[in-house]
Amino acid sequence: MSILVVGSAALDTVETPFGSVEDALGGSAIYFSAAASYFAPVNLVAVVGDDFPREQIEFLKKKNVDFSGLEVANGKTFRWGGKYGFDLNERDTLFTHLNVFEKFEPKIPDSYKNSEYIFLANIGPDLQMDVLKQIQAPKLVALDTMNYWIGGNLPALRETLKRVDVLIINDSEVRQLANEANLVKASKIVQEMGPKTLIIKKGEHGALLITRNSFFWAPAYPLEIIYDPTGAGDTFAGGFMGYMAKSDDISIDNLKRAVVFGSAMASFCVEKFSLERLKNLSDEEIRTRFKEFWQMTNFDPNV
Ligand code: AMP
Repeated sequence: MSILVVGSAALDTVETPFGSVEDALGGSAIYFSAAASYFAPVNLVAVVGDDFPREQIEFLKKKNVDFSGLEVANGKTFRWGGKYGFDLNERDTLFTHLNVFEKFEPKIPDSYKNSEYIFLANIGPDLQMDVLKQIQAPKLVALDTMNYWIGGNLPALRETLKRVDVLIINDSEVRQLANEANLVKASKIVQEMGPKTLIIKKGEHGALLITRNSFFWAPAYPLEIIYDPTGAGDTFAGGFMGYMAKSDDISIDNLKRAVVFGSAMASFCVEKFSLERLKNLSDEEIRTRFKEFWQMTNFDPNV
C-alpha cells in the first residue's frame, strides 16, 4: 500500500550542544518520507524554491519516494532555525522563513489520488482539508498539528479533525486542544472531535497510544548521546505510517507494533544531524532495534 505525505521540505539551521549545521536538508515531509520508505512506497507533496539542492534528495528517489508532487516555485526554499540546550526536550525556534512555503497550495497529482494511507504533516488545517478533498477513498488518515494552529485557527482544525483517524501530537498540544490539563480526560475530549486514535509524543519519555478502549505505552530508546532531535516527531510518524501501510492491518495489536517501529525510527534519527542517520539503515538494524524495545518493555508477571 502506498502512502501520501503532504508537508514541508526545508533547509534547517540547527545548533545543539554537540555541534551545528547550516542549511541542512529537513522539513516534515522529508523526515517522514525517509523513515516511511523503509517500509512502503511514499508519494510526496511539498514545495521548494529554485535554490533547493536537488541532489540531496537523490537517496530518497532511490528508496521508493515519488517526487512528482514536489513543486519547484520561483523564490527561496522554506528555512527554519532552531537551537537546543542541554535539555534536548526543549528548543528555541530562532527563525522561520516561510519563503515559497507561504503560498503553498498542495496539488495532488492524479497518480497519487488513490493513496490509502495519508499523513497530513504540520501545515495549516485548511490546507490539510484541501488535501483530503482531493483523495478518493483513504483507508487511514493521520494528522500532525502544533500549538500555532490550535491557538490560531481552531475552527478550521476542528473541521479537519472530523475526517482524521489518528492524531499524532505532543502532550502539551493535546492539553491545549482539549483545554484540559489531565491527559486521560483531554484524550477523551479530543476523541469526540473526530480521531478515535491518539498518539501522544512525550520526547525522551516515549509515546502513548490511546484508542477508545485501550492504552499502550512505548518508551523512547535509551541513547547515550542525542546529537540532534530535529525531525524526530516526523520520523516517528514515518515509521508508524510506513509499518501500517506495509502490513495493511488496523487492529490494535498492529497499531502497537507500528508505534514501536515509529519509536525505533525516531531513535535512529536523533543519532546524527539532519537526515544523515536515516540515509543508510539496514532492515537488520531496524528489526534489531524493534526487538530491543520488546526486551525493554517485557517482564515476567509471575510473582
Ligand atoms: P520536528 O522536530 O519533528 O518538530 O520537525 C522539525 C522539522 O519541521 C524541521 O525540519 C523544520 O524544517 C520543520 N518545520 C519547523 N517549523 C515548521 C512549520 N511552521 N511548518 C512546517 N514545517 C516546519
